[in-house]
Amino acid sequence: MNAVKNRKILVVEDSRLIHKMYEVMLRPATLVSAFDGREGLDKLSQSPDVDMIILDINMPKMTGLDFLGQVKATPALAKIPVIIVSTEGKEEDVARGLQSGAVAYLRKPFQREDLLKIVNHIESKQTAA
Ligand SMILES: [Mg+2]
Repeated sequence: MNAVKNRKILVVEDSRLIHKMYEVMLRPATLVSAFDGREGLDKLSQSPDVDMIILDINMPKMTGLDFLGQVKATPALAKIPVIIVSTEGKEEDVARGLQSGAVAYLRKPFQREDLLKIVNHIESKQTAA
């Protein structure tokens, strides 16, 4: 099982510790790192070829939901699957994230298997499409 091999994933997350966790969990994927929504948009303009985006909600400068809104409003980027991973776990938060265009919403804390299950699901849908 190595769905993330040869994959390029943008991680938009303000916690350095969680970035390090993703590096381990998603090895051997290529990760592009951003620490707030605005930096995420900058990184996307440099690397619009990312296969998916892992997105935090609570971040300085620009929140995950604002970032997601911008991505979905940009036709060249709108099809990139976005997985929200957040401590904001209430039903309304999840609903808002999915309505904003995320394909999945994972609550922190989470296990590596939970994340990989979502990533694999996205991969299989893309292969089938
Ligand atoms: Mg955060």
